[in-house]
Amino acid sequence: MHNHSTVTPSAPATIPSAAPSTIHFTDLSLAEPLLRALGEKNYTVPSPIQAKAIPFLLQGRDLIGVAQTGTGKTAAFALPILQRLAANPTPTTPKRPRVLVLAPTRELAAQIQQSFGAYGKFLKLSSAVVFGGVSISPQIRTLARGVDILIATPGRLQDLERSKHVILDKVEVFVLDEADRMLDLGFVHEIKRIITKLPPKRQSLLFSATMPPAIQDLASSIVHNPARVEVTPVSSTAERIEQHVCYVNRMDKAKLLVHFIGKHPQGLVLVFVRMKHMANKLVDQLFKDGVRAEAIHGNKSQGARERALENFRAGRSRVLVATDIAARGIDVKGIALVVNFDLPEEPESYVHRIGRTARAGLDGMAVAFCDSSERNLLRNIERLIRRPIPVLKDHPFEGAAQTQREPSPYAGSGIDRPHRPAPRHGGFRSHSSSSSNNRTAPRTGGVGFTKAGFARSGSSRY
Ligand code: AMP
Repeated sequence: MHNHSTVTPSAPATIPSAAPSTIHFTDLSLAEPLLRALGEKNYTVPSPIQAKAIPFLLQGRDLIGVAQTGTGKTAAFALPILQRLAANPTPTTPKRPRVLVLAPTRELAAQIQQSFGAYGKFLKLSSAVVFGGVSISPQIRTLARGVDILIATPGRLQDLERSKHVILDKVEVFVLDEADRMLDLGFVHEIKRIITKLPPKRQSLLFSATMPPAIQDLASSIVHNPARVEVTPVSSTAERIEQHVCYVNRMDKAKLLVHFIGKHPQGLVLVFVRMKHMANKLVDQLFKDGVRAEAIHGNKSQGARERALENFRAGRSRVLVATDIAARGIDVKGIALVVNFDLPEEPESYVHRIGRTARAGLDGMAVAFCDSSERNLLRNIERLIRRPIPVLKDHPFEGAAQTQREPSPYAGSGIDRPHRPAPRHGGFRSHSSSSSNNRTAPRTGGVGFTKAGFARSGSSRY
Protein backbone atom coordinates (compact mmCIF):
# COMPACT_ATOMS: atom_id res chain seq x y z
CA MET A 1 0.00 0.00 0.00
CA HIS A 2 1.36 3.42 -0.93
CA ASN A 3 1.16 6.13 1.65
CA HIS A 4 1.49 9.74 0.76
CA SER A 5 2.45 10.78 4.20
CA THR A 6 3.73 14.05 5.54
CA VAL A 7 4.00 13.29 9.23
CA THR A 8 6.04 10.64 10.97
CA PRO A 9 3.84 9.03 13.57
CA SER A 10 4.95 7.63 16.86
CA ALA A 11 5.68 4.00 17.54
CA PRO A 12 2.57 1.90 18.05
CA ALA A 13 1.43 0.87 21.48
CA THR A 14 2.12 -2.61 22.73
CA ILE A 15 -0.39 -5.41 22.67
CA PRO A 16 -3.12 -5.50 25.27
CA SER A 17 -3.31 -8.88 26.96
CA ALA A 18 -6.15 -11.17 26.07
CA ALA A 19 -8.95 -12.34 28.30
CA PRO A 20 -9.00 -16.16 28.32
CA SER A 21 -12.20 -16.60 26.35
CA THR A 22 -11.63 -13.88 23.75
CA ILE A 23 -11.93 -14.37 20.04
CA HIS A 24 -9.04 -13.94 17.64
CA PHE A 25 -8.68 -11.96 14.44
CA THR A 26 -8.70 -15.28 12.59
CA ASP A 27 -12.33 -15.73 13.75
CA LEU A 28 -13.47 -12.51 12.10
CA SER A 29 -13.54 -13.54 8.41
CA LEU A 30 -10.77 -11.15 7.52
CA ALA A 31 -8.84 -11.65 4.30
CA GLU A 32 -5.44 -13.29 4.40
CA PRO A 33 -3.39 -10.16 3.52
CA LEU A 34 -4.98 -8.35 6.46
CA LEU A 35 -4.32 -11.22 8.84
CA ARG A 36 -0.73 -11.29 7.65
CA ALA A 37 -0.34 -7.56 8.34
CA LEU A 38 -1.89 -7.99 11.78
CA GLY A 39 0.45 -10.89 12.42
CA GLU A 40 3.42 -8.69 11.60
CA LYS A 41 2.26 -6.26 14.23
CA ASN A 42 1.71 -9.12 16.67
CA TYR A 43 -1.97 -8.30 16.99
CA THR A 44 -3.86 -11.53 17.53
CA VAL A 45 -6.76 -10.54 19.73
CA PRO A 46 -9.22 -7.86 18.61
CA SER A 47 -10.06 -5.18 21.14
CA PRO A 48 -13.75 -5.07 22.17
CA ILE A 49 -14.65 -2.35 19.67
CA GLN A 50 -12.93 -4.34 16.93
CA ALA A 51 -14.65 -7.58 17.87
CA LYS A 52 -18.01 -5.84 17.94
CA ALA A 53 -17.73 -3.53 14.93
CA ILE A 54 -15.83 -5.58 12.34
CA PRO A 55 -18.59 -8.17 11.69
CA PHE A 56 -21.18 -5.40 11.10
CA LEU A 57 -18.87 -3.46 8.86
CA LEU A 58 -17.97 -6.52 6.79
CA GLN A 59 -21.70 -6.94 6.18
CA GLY A 60 -21.73 -3.40 4.77
CA ARG A 61 -23.78 -1.96 7.66
CA ASP A 62 -23.63 1.67 8.70
CA LEU A 63 -22.32 2.07 12.22
CA ILE A 64 -22.26 4.38 15.20
CA GLY A 65 -19.31 3.62 17.44
CA VAL A 66 -19.14 5.14 20.89
CA ALA A 67 -15.46 4.84 21.66
CA GLN A 68 -12.46 7.04 22.04
CA THR A 69 -8.88 6.97 20.97
CA GLY A 70 -6.96 4.19 22.62
CA THR A 71 -9.70 1.60 22.25
CA GLY A 72 -8.42 0.32 18.92
CA LYS A 73 -11.18 2.00 16.95
CA THR A 74 -8.95 2.87 13.99
CA ALA A 75 -8.35 -0.77 13.14
CA ALA A 76 -12.03 -1.42 13.83
CA PHE A 77 -12.90 0.62 10.76
CA ALA A 78 -9.69 0.39 8.72
CA LEU A 79 -9.66 -3.42 8.47
CA PRO A 80 -13.18 -3.88 7.05
CA ILE A 81 -12.73 -0.88 4.74
CA LEU A 82 -9.53 -2.34 3.33
CA GLN A 83 -11.23 -5.67 2.90
CA ARG A 84 -14.12 -4.09 1.05
CA LEU A 85 -11.87 -2.20 -1.36
CA ALA A 86 -9.66 -5.21 -2.00
CA ALA A 87 -12.66 -7.45 -2.68
CA ASN A 88 -13.87 -5.08 -5.36
CA PRO A 89 -10.78 -3.73 -7.11
CA THR A 90 -11.32 -0.78 -9.40
CA PRO A 91 -8.66 1.38 -11.01
CA THR A 92 -7.71 4.39 -8.91
CA THR A 93 -9.38 7.48 -10.39
CA PRO A 94 -7.71 10.89 -10.31
CA LYS A 95 -9.25 13.17 -7.69
CA ARG A 96 -11.91 10.63 -6.77
CA PRO A 97 -11.19 8.63 -3.60
CA ARG A 98 -13.27 5.56 -2.75
CA VAL A 99 -12.98 6.16 0.98
CA LEU A 100 -13.11 9.42 2.90
CA VAL A 101 -12.16 9.58 6.56
CA LEU A 102 -12.64 12.89 8.35
CA ALA A 103 -10.65 13.46 11.53
CA PRO A 104 -10.61 16.60 13.71
CA THR A 105 -6.86 17.13 13.94
CA ARG A 106 -3.87 16.69 11.74
CA GLU A 107 -2.25 14.39 14.28
CA LEU A 108 -5.18 12.05 14.33
CA ALA A 109 -5.52 12.19 10.56
CA ALA A 110 -1.85 11.26 10.14
CA GLN A 111 -2.20 8.48 12.67
CA ILE A 112 -5.19 7.05 10.82
CA GLN A 113 -3.31 7.09 7.55
CA GLN A 114 -0.44 5.30 9.19
CA SER A 115 -2.84 2.61 10.39
CA PHE A 116 -4.31 2.16 6.91
CA GLY A 117 -0.77 1.86 5.61
CA ALA A 118 0.18 -0.77 8.19
CA TYR A 119 -2.95 -2.91 7.89
CA GLY A 120 -3.05 -2.57 4.11
CA LYS A 121 0.61 -3.35 3.67
CA PHE A 122 -0.05 -6.43 1.52
CA LEU A 123 -2.79 -4.86 -0.59
CA LYS A 124 -2.43 -2.75 -3.69
CA LEU A 125 -4.28 0.27 -2.42
CA SER A 126 -3.16 3.84 -1.92
CA SER A 127 -3.91 6.40 0.76
CA ALA A 128 -3.19 10.05 1.40
CA VAL A 129 -3.68 12.48 4.24
CA VAL A 130 -4.53 16.15 3.80
CA PHE A 131 -4.70 18.82 6.48
CA GLY A 132 -4.18 22.52 6.87
CA GLY A 133 -1.15 24.41 8.06
CA VAL A 134 1.06 22.97 5.33
CA SER A 135 1.40 23.76 1.64
CA ILE A 136 -1.61 22.67 -0.37
CA SER A 137 0.32 22.09 -3.65
CA PRO A 138 1.73 18.61 -2.89
CA GLN A 139 -1.74 17.58 -1.71
CA ILE A 140 -3.24 18.76 -4.98
CA ARG A 141 -0.65 16.78 -6.95
CA THR A 142 -1.26 13.64 -4.91
CA LEU A 143 -5.00 13.90 -5.41
CA ALA A 144 -4.53 14.49 -9.13
CA ARG A 145 -2.67 11.18 -9.39
CA GLY A 146 -5.51 9.51 -7.49
CA VAL A 147 -5.76 7.75 -4.15
CA ASP A 148 -8.14 5.06 -2.92
CA ILE A 149 -8.34 6.25 0.66
CA LEU A 150 -8.31 9.90 1.66
CA ILE A 151 -7.96 10.97 5.27
CA ALA A 152 -8.61 14.65 5.84
CA THR A 153 -9.33 17.35 8.33
CA PRO A 154 -12.55 19.22 7.46
CA GLY A 155 -11.21 22.70 6.68
CA ARG A 156 -8.55 21.64 4.21
CA LEU A 157 -10.85 19.10 2.61
CA GLN A 158 -13.42 21.82 2.08
CA ASP A 159 -10.81 24.03 0.38
CA LEU A 160 -9.76 21.17 -1.89
CA GLU A 161 -13.32 20.26 -2.67
CA ARG A 162 -14.33 23.83 -3.46
CA SER A 163 -11.46 24.19 -5.88
CA LYS A 164 -12.40 20.81 -7.43
CA HIS A 165 -9.08 19.24 -6.60
CA VAL A 166 -11.01 16.47 -4.97
CA ILE A 167 -14.39 15.20 -6.10
CA LEU A 168 -16.34 13.15 -3.64
CA ASP A 169 -18.94 11.54 -5.89
CA LYS A 170 -17.21 8.15 -5.91
CA VAL A 171 -16.92 7.76 -2.15
CA GLU A 172 -18.09 4.28 -1.16
CA VAL A 173 -17.27 4.52 2.54
CA PHE A 174 -17.39 7.64 4.68
CA VAL A 175 -15.99 7.77 8.21
CA LEU A 176 -16.51 10.65 10.60
CA ASP A 177 -14.06 10.11 13.42
CA GLU A 178 -14.25 11.81 16.83
CA ALA A 179 -17.49 13.52 15.94
CA ASP A 180 -17.85 15.15 19.36
CA ARG A 181 -14.45 16.72 19.05
CA MET A 182 -15.32 17.95 15.57
CA LEU A 183 -18.24 19.86 17.03
CA ASP A 184 -16.12 21.20 19.89
CA LEU A 185 -13.70 22.54 17.34
CA GLY A 186 -16.48 24.21 15.38
CA PHE A 187 -16.37 22.06 12.27
CA VAL A 188 -20.07 21.43 12.02
CA HIS A 189 -20.66 23.58 8.92
CA GLU A 190 -17.76 22.09 7.04
CA ILE A 191 -18.98 18.60 7.85
CA LYS A 192 -22.55 19.31 6.83
CA ARG A 193 -21.37 20.76 3.56
CA ILE A 194 -19.06 17.85 2.84
CA ILE A 195 -21.89 15.38 3.44
CA THR A 196 -23.91 17.01 0.67
CA LYS A 197 -21.08 16.24 -1.75
CA LEU A 198 -21.09 12.50 -1.02
CA PRO A 199 -23.14 10.06 -3.04
CA PRO A 200 -26.28 8.98 -1.14
CA LYS A 201 -25.48 5.30 -1.65
CA ARG A 202 -22.51 4.67 0.57
CA GLN A 203 -21.49 3.01 3.80
CA SER A 204 -21.19 5.53 6.65
CA LEU A 205 -19.52 5.25 10.02
CA LEU A 206 -19.54 7.72 12.86
CA PHE A 207 -17.32 7.45 15.91
CA SER A 208 -17.61 9.62 18.97
CA ALA A 209 -16.44 9.35 22.56
CA THR A 210 -19.72 10.83 23.77
CA MET A 211 -23.20 10.97 22.30
CA PRO A 212 -24.83 14.27 23.27
CA PRO A 213 -27.99 15.28 21.35
CA ALA A 214 -26.03 17.43 18.87
CA ILE A 215 -24.04 14.38 17.79
CA GLN A 216 -27.16 12.26 17.55
CA ASP A 217 -28.66 14.90 15.27
CA LEU A 218 -25.57 14.93 13.13
CA ALA A 219 -25.49 11.13 13.09
CA SER A 220 -29.04 10.94 11.81
CA SER A 221 -28.04 12.96 8.75
CA ILE A 222 -25.08 10.66 8.05
CA VAL A 223 -25.86 7.05 8.88
CA HIS A 224 -28.76 4.92 7.78
CA ASN A 225 -30.11 2.12 9.97
CA PRO A 226 -26.81 1.92 11.83
CA ALA A 227 -25.48 -0.83 14.03
CA ARG A 228 -24.41 0.64 17.37
CA VAL A 229 -21.38 -0.46 19.30
CA GLU A 230 -20.10 1.05 22.48
CA VAL A 231 -17.02 0.62 24.58
CA THR A 232 -16.10 2.69 27.59
CA PRO A 233 -12.51 2.95 28.64
CA VAL A 234 -12.23 2.21 32.28
CA SER A 235 -10.77 5.53 33.37
CA SER A 236 -13.49 7.63 31.78
CA THR A 237 -16.45 5.77 33.24
CA ALA A 238 -15.86 7.75 36.37
CA GLU A 239 -16.60 11.04 34.66
CA ARG A 240 -20.38 10.87 34.78
CA ILE A 241 -20.75 9.79 38.36
CA GLU A 242 -20.96 12.04 41.38
CA GLN A 243 -18.29 10.69 43.66
CA HIS A 244 -17.44 11.30 47.29
CA VAL A 245 -15.13 9.90 49.87
CA CYS A 246 -15.90 9.79 53.59
CA TYR A 247 -13.14 9.45 56.11
CA VAL A 248 -14.41 7.12 58.76
CA ASN A 249 -13.05 4.74 61.38
CA ARG A 250 -13.30 1.11 60.39
CA MET A 251 -15.62 0.27 63.29
CA ASP A 252 -18.06 3.02 62.26
CA LYS A 253 -18.40 1.95 58.65
CA ALA A 254 -21.52 -0.18 59.13
CA LYS A 255 -23.30 2.65 60.96
CA LEU A 256 -22.28 5.06 58.26
CA LEU A 257 -23.70 2.69 55.68
CA VAL A 258 -27.05 2.63 57.49
CA HIS A 259 -26.93 6.41 57.55
CA PHE A 260 -26.43 6.55 53.76
CA ILE A 261 -29.10 3.99 53.06
CA GLY A 262 -31.47 6.13 55.13
CA LYS A 263 -30.48 9.18 53.12
CA HIS A 264 -31.34 7.34 49.89
CA PRO A 265 -34.87 6.12 50.49
CA GLN A 266 -35.38 5.70 46.73
CA GLY A 267 -33.38 3.50 44.45
CA LEU A 268 -31.11 0.52 44.87
CA VAL A 269 -27.90 0.54 46.86
CA LEU A 270 -24.98 -1.64 45.84
CA VAL A 271 -22.30 -2.11 48.48
CA PHE A 272 -18.84 -3.46 47.74
CA VAL A 273 -16.65 -5.25 50.20
CA ARG A 274 -13.32 -6.98 49.71
CA MET A 275 -13.96 -10.25 51.56
CA LYS A 276 -16.75 -12.79 51.21
CA HIS A 277 -17.17 -13.23 54.96
CA MET A 278 -17.49 -9.46 55.32
CA ALA A 279 -20.38 -9.50 52.86
CA ASN A 280 -22.27 -12.02 55.04
CA LYS A 281 -21.43 -10.19 58.24
CA LEU A 282 -22.61 -6.90 56.84
CA VAL A 283 -25.93 -8.40 55.68
CA ASP A 284 -26.53 -9.64 59.25
CA GLN A 285 -25.60 -6.30 60.70
CA LEU A 286 -27.90 -4.43 58.33
CA PHE A 287 -30.70 -6.84 59.21
CA LYS A 288 -30.31 -5.87 62.87
CA ASP A 289 -30.68 -2.26 61.81
CA GLY A 290 -33.89 -3.06 59.97
CA VAL A 291 -32.45 -3.01 56.45
CA ARG A 292 -33.12 -5.96 54.22
CA ALA A 293 -29.99 -6.81 52.28
CA GLU A 294 -28.58 -9.80 50.45
CA ALA A 295 -25.04 -10.86 49.72
CA ILE A 296 -23.57 -12.04 46.47
CA HIS A 297 -20.11 -13.57 46.39
CA GLY A 298 -18.11 -16.52 45.15
CA ASN A 299 -19.08 -18.92 47.96
CA LYS A 300 -22.75 -18.72 47.08
CA SER A 301 -24.24 -21.18 44.63
CA GLN A 302 -25.17 -19.95 41.19
CA GLY A 303 -28.83 -20.30 42.13
CA ALA A 304 -28.44 -18.28 45.31
CA ARG A 305 -26.58 -15.58 43.41
CA GLU A 306 -29.22 -15.37 40.76
CA ARG A 307 -31.98 -15.19 43.38
CA ALA A 308 -30.18 -12.43 45.23
CA LEU A 309 -29.71 -10.53 42.01
CA GLU A 310 -33.35 -11.01 41.05
CA ASN A 311 -34.55 -9.77 44.45
CA PHE A 312 -32.30 -6.79 44.09
CA ARG A 313 -33.36 -6.04 40.55
CA ALA A 314 -37.01 -6.22 41.55
CA GLY A 315 -36.38 -3.99 44.57
CA ARG A 316 -37.44 -6.70 47.06
CA SER A 317 -34.11 -6.22 48.79
CA ARG A 318 -32.98 -2.72 48.18
CA VAL A 319 -29.41 -3.36 49.23
CA LEU A 320 -26.99 -5.83 47.67
CA VAL A 321 -23.61 -6.48 49.25
CA ALA A 322 -21.12 -7.82 46.73
CA THR A 323 -17.52 -8.72 46.23
CA ASP A 324 -15.78 -7.60 43.06
CA ILE A 325 -15.74 -10.94 41.27
CA ALA A 326 -19.40 -11.61 41.95
CA ALA A 327 -20.34 -8.15 40.78
CA ARG A 328 -18.73 -8.45 37.35
CA GLY A 329 -21.38 -7.99 34.78
CA ILE A 330 -24.09 -6.81 37.17
CA ASP A 331 -26.16 -4.62 34.91
CA VAL A 332 -29.08 -3.50 37.00
CA LYS A 333 -30.94 -0.34 36.21
CA GLY A 334 -31.85 1.97 39.04
CA ILE A 335 -28.77 1.65 41.22
CA ALA A 336 -28.84 5.07 42.84
CA LEU A 337 -25.87 4.61 45.08
CA VAL A 338 -22.71 2.54 45.02
CA VAL A 339 -20.90 2.29 48.33
CA ASN A 340 -17.28 1.27 48.46
CA PHE A 341 -17.47 -0.11 51.97
CA ASP A 342 -13.87 -1.21 51.56
CA LEU A 343 -11.62 0.38 49.03
CA PRO A 344 -10.43 -2.12 46.44
CA GLU A 345 -6.80 -3.18 46.18
CA GLU A 346 -6.93 -2.71 42.42
CA PRO A 347 -7.78 0.89 41.51
CA GLU A 348 -9.46 -0.34 38.31
CA SER A 349 -11.99 -2.20 40.43
CA TYR A 350 -13.11 1.13 41.81
CA VAL A 351 -14.06 2.30 38.33
CA HIS A 352 -15.83 -0.97 37.56
CA ARG A 353 -17.67 -0.75 40.86
CA ILE A 354 -18.92 2.79 40.46
CA GLY A 355 -19.80 2.06 36.84
CA ARG A 356 -22.70 -0.05 38.17
CA THR A 357 -24.51 3.20 38.80
CA ALA A 358 -25.27 5.88 36.22
CA ARG A 359 -26.16 3.18 33.68
CA ALA A 360 -27.82 4.10 30.43
CA GLY A 361 -26.95 7.75 30.73
CA LEU A 362 -28.61 8.18 34.13
CA ASP A 363 -26.99 10.01 36.97
CA GLY A 364 -25.57 8.11 39.87
CA MET A 365 -23.67 8.59 43.06
CA ALA A 366 -20.76 6.70 44.53
CA VAL A 367 -19.41 6.97 48.05
CA ALA A 368 -16.13 5.51 49.22
CA PHE A 369 -15.53 4.77 52.90
CA CYS A 370 -11.89 5.28 53.63
CA ASP A 371 -10.33 4.37 56.96
CA SER A 372 -6.83 5.28 58.00
CA SER A 373 -5.37 2.07 56.57
CA GLU A 374 -6.81 2.74 53.13
CA ARG A 375 -5.29 6.13 52.31
CA ASN A 376 -2.85 4.63 49.84
CA LEU A 377 -5.61 2.79 48.05
CA LEU A 378 -7.48 6.06 47.73
CA ARG A 379 -4.42 7.76 46.36
CA ASN A 380 -4.01 5.05 43.71
CA ILE A 381 -7.62 5.42 42.65
CA GLU A 382 -7.29 9.17 42.32
CA ARG A 383 -4.21 8.68 40.26
CA LEU A 384 -6.01 6.34 37.91
CA ILE A 385 -9.02 8.58 37.43
CA ARG A 386 -6.76 11.62 37.39
CA ARG A 387 -8.75 13.69 39.77
CA PRO A 388 -9.42 14.05 43.45
CA ILE A 389 -12.55 12.52 44.89
CA PRO A 390 -14.30 15.25 46.88
CA VAL A 391 -14.37 14.63 50.62
CA LEU A 392 -17.83 14.52 52.18
CA LYS A 393 -17.60 16.16 55.56
CA ASP A 394 -21.11 16.37 56.90
CA HIS A 395 -21.65 12.82 58.04
CA PRO A 396 -22.17 11.72 61.63
CA PHE A 397 -18.89 9.84 61.96
CA GLU A 398 -16.66 12.44 60.42
CA GLY A 399 -15.57 13.82 63.82
CA ALA A 400 -14.22 10.50 65.05
CA ALA A 401 -12.22 9.95 61.92
CA GLN A 402 -11.05 13.53 61.92
CA THR A 403 -8.80 12.94 64.89
CA GLN A 404 -6.82 10.44 62.86
CA ARG A 405 -6.88 12.33 59.62
CA GLU A 406 -3.69 12.49 57.70
CA PRO A 407 -3.09 15.29 55.27
CA SER A 408 -5.35 15.08 52.22
CA PRO A 409 -4.51 11.90 50.39
CA TYR A 410 -4.45 13.99 47.31
CA ALA A 411 -1.64 16.17 48.54
CA GLY A 412 1.71 15.24 47.11
CA SER A 413 0.21 12.75 44.69
CA GLY A 414 1.55 14.70 41.78
CA ILE A 415 -1.92 15.24 40.37
CA ASP A 416 -2.98 18.70 39.44
CA ARG A 417 -6.24 20.19 40.55
CA PRO A 418 -8.53 20.44 38.72
CA HIS A 419 -8.16 17.25 36.78
CA ARG A 420 -5.69 17.37 33.94
CA PRO A 421 -6.74 15.73 30.71
CA ALA A 422 -4.35 13.17 29.31
CA PRO A 423 -2.70 13.99 26.03
CA ARG A 424 -4.71 12.36 23.31
CA HIS A 425 -2.22 11.34 20.72
CA GLY A 426 0.86 10.44 22.62
CA GLY A 427 4.00 10.81 20.62
CA PHE A 428 2.93 13.36 18.06
CA ARG A 429 4.41 16.76 18.22
CA SER A 430 2.17 19.57 17.23
CA HIS A 431 3.39 21.46 14.24
CA SER A 432 4.27 25.07 14.42
CA SER A 433 2.10 26.34 11.62
CA SER A 434 -1.51 26.91 12.43
CA SER A 435 -4.64 26.73 10.41
CA SER A 436 -8.30 26.13 10.97
CA ASN A 437 -7.49 22.46 10.91
CA ASN A 438 -5.00 22.72 13.61
CA ARG A 439 -7.23 24.03 16.34
CA THR A 440 -7.06 22.34 19.64
CA ALA A 441 -9.53 22.37 22.47
CA PRO A 442 -9.67 20.87 25.91
CA ARG A 443 -11.25 17.48 25.90
CA THR A 444 -14.81 17.32 26.99
CA GLY A 445 -14.93 13.64 27.77
CA GLY A 446 -12.31 13.79 30.49
CA VAL A 447 -9.58 11.26 30.79
CA GLY A 448 -9.00 9.36 27.62
CA PHE A 449 -7.01 6.35 26.82
CA THR A 450 -3.78 7.47 25.38
CA LYS A 451 -1.57 5.05 23.56
CA ALA A 452 0.45 4.76 26.70
CA GLY A 453 -2.68 3.98 28.66
CA PHE A 454 -3.70 1.32 26.19
CA ALA A 455 -0.34 -0.27 26.53
CA ARG A 456 -0.35 -0.22 30.28
CA SER A 457 -2.17 -3.45 30.92
CA GLY A 458 -4.83 -5.90 30.00
CA SER A 459 -7.99 -5.91 28.01
CA SER A 460 -10.12 -4.76 30.92
CA ARG A 461 -8.82 -1.30 30.17
CA TYR A 462 -10.69 -0.89 26.96
P1 AMP B 1 -6.64 3.58 18.42
O1 AMP B 1 -7.71 3.59 19.47
O2 AMP B 1 -7.16 3.14 17.11
O3 AMP B 1 -5.88 4.87 18.39
O4 AMP B 1 -5.57 2.44 18.85
C1 AMP B 1 -4.76 2.54 19.97
C2 AMP B 1 -3.48 1.73 19.83
O5 AMP B 1 -3.72 0.35 19.97
C3 AMP B 1 -2.77 1.88 18.51
O6 AMP B 1 -1.41 2.05 18.76
C4 AMP B 1 -3.01 0.58 17.79
O7 AMP B 1 -1.96 0.27 16.93
C5 AMP B 1 -3.08 -0.38 18.94
N1 AMP B 1 -3.98 -1.53 18.64
C6 AMP B 1 -5.14 -1.49 17.96
N2 AMP B 1 -5.69 -2.69 17.91
C7 AMP B 1 -4.90 -3.53 18.58
C8 AMP B 1 -4.95 -4.93 18.88
N3 AMP B 1 -5.97 -5.67 18.49
N4 AMP B 1 -3.96 -5.45 19.59
C9 AMP B 1 -2.96 -4.67 20.01
N5 AMP B 1 -2.83 -3.35 19.77
C10 AMP B 1 -3.79 -2.78 19.07
